[in-house]
Amino acid sequence: MFRVLPSHPHRRNEEIFSSWILRIASGNGVSVRDLCDSIDETRNIQRLDLMWPNDPLVSSLAVATSMRAELVGQALPASLQGLYGKGINECWPYNRALPWHLRTGSPSPNVGGQYCIDCLRESRCYQLRWRISVYGCCLLHKNFLRECCPHCDEPIRDASQFFNWRVPDPDREIELCGYCGGSLVRCEPSEFVTNDALELAQIYDSLVRNPNCLGYFSVLYKLLQFMCGVSNLAKLMRSEILADSRQLILRCKDADMICFEVLDAKSRLTMLTTVLHLFKDWPVHFVDAVRSHSIRNWWISGPNLPRWYLNAVELASTKRWNLMSCARQEFLSAATLEGWASVGQFADRQD
Ligand SMILES: [Zn+2]
Ligand SMILES: [Zn+2]
Repeated sequence: MFRVLPSHPHRRNEEIFSSWILRIASGNGVSVRDLCDSIDETRNIQRLDLMWPNDPLVSSLAVATSMRAELVGQALPASLQGLYGKGINECWPYNRALPWHLRTGSPSPNVGGQYCIDCLRESRCYQLRWRISVYGCCLLHKNFLRECCPHCDEPIRDASQFFNWRVPDPDREIELCGYCGGSLVRCEPSEFVTNDALELAQIYDSLVRNPNCLGYFSVLYKLLQFMCGVSNLAKLMRSEILADSRQLILRCKDADMICFEVLDAKSRLTMLTTVLHLFKDWPVHFVDAVRSHSIRNWWISGPNLPRWYLNAVELASTKRWNLMSCARQEFLSAATLEGWASVGQFADRQD
């Protein structure tokens, strides 16, 4: 029977589970690995953040730390049901990218995490938001998140890098680079984001925990996947829409695929802003995009999918799209009226 731990530090603001459990283990003088061993937890502990809130380990830890299991669940990315619905769990294949999720640590490729210099300095913990690709900036400090060590340029790891040994002072160690040992918070301040980008990030932040938004985010993800892709059409659209200085930049040289998650923070914010305008102002291009790809790639099932998206996919799948001037006209005017992927409009919906 597992005993209640004598020390049970509370979760800090926005702290992610791996960072919190590191502090809990350290506070009790053991490593995270020892802590998990003592409750017969044999899984790959590097992946504790991918637990589903009803995982038995969540309730064991809640008992051990005298916390409500619900509070433990809130520290897990799975609590972002607007992004993940109820589908995120340990079963995700190792090397397939989890949507919206930045890959850190092993297995390779280590695309790396991200962090806000000021938040890390002030609160001494890793945040849940930093693991998620929707966030490219800090909502509190209004600056771009950083993605590599200011000294050695290696990618940012997460708290799981400390899991195998006892960390006497996690508040101090957490700010150190896992590669060169330099301080991640003693460096030049980060650039501030524009008000538009900040506003968009705030809107998404208000939607990510709302399970009704799963359909919206699924569609947004499809659009981003396409627009960040290597197809000629995507390249053409990017070259027409983005200024030369704002072309996409990968944050990982050895990324095995080009997807939204491997873009740097600035490029992700640019793309999030761009796809909204793109399909509002250029609806024909959206239909072309759908037609340029196998229709199966665009098919999404689930509740609360935006109607304009379903209409577009259906229309694009008809072979006579170019000839159907009437249906085409009807679709284009509906697209304009519905405001396409207007986030604001979705946020105002009552359902
Ligand atoms: Zn911050
Ligand atoms: Zn370093």
